[in-house]
Amino acid sequence: MRSMDEWLGSEETGEAFSHCLRCHLPLAEIDAPWLVNKEFHRDECVLEYAICQPCRDEVADQLSEESKESVRKFLEQEIDWEERVRECMLFQDLTDRFGTCVSCHTARGELEGFGISALFDSDGQLVTGPLPLLICRNCIARMTASLSESSREVWRNFLADHFAGPSNDSGFPGLL
Ligand SMILES: [Zn+2]
Ligand SMILES: [Zn+2]
Repeated sequence: MRSMDEWLGSEETGEAFSHCLRCHLPLAEIDAPWLVNKEFHRDECVLEYAICQPCRDEVADQLSEESKESVRKFLEQEIDWEERVRECMLFQDLTDRFGTCVSCHTARGELEGFGISALFDSDGQLVTGPLPLLICRNCIARMTASLSESSREVWRNFLADHFAGPSNDSGFPGLL
């Protein structure tokens, strides 16, 4: 069983994320919240980063209004947030939030691929609200199905700018 620190830390360093992927500022020193996003293929982490809120907003601002709207609609309509709140209250442990996909409720053990997302406040405390959550690759694909080509390009460029190796746009849109 992974602890929350393990889930939300860097697999590469074995420690908590220390810097924003995009602006490279130390997360502990900036006066802003930050997000941790990781993507897994079965048990293997294939992408991981922390991004500060100002950088995340700048990336999101490059997406078209239509794309932002389609993602917002998905999050509103395809996730039952009231049910989610009830479910979360019954969890024994915060890591139980990573037990199933937030949208289709498939158990993690049955998933080929999934992404997790968590929000930390400017003091580095994990914020428990809609996040942390796990969302499966199929649901990510559904969420991003109606993204415009220009928005896909924004995401591809983001990956290409910050990660070595071939990028594709099948992954986590980094919007959560
Ligand atoms: Zn940043
Ligand atoms: Zn799902």
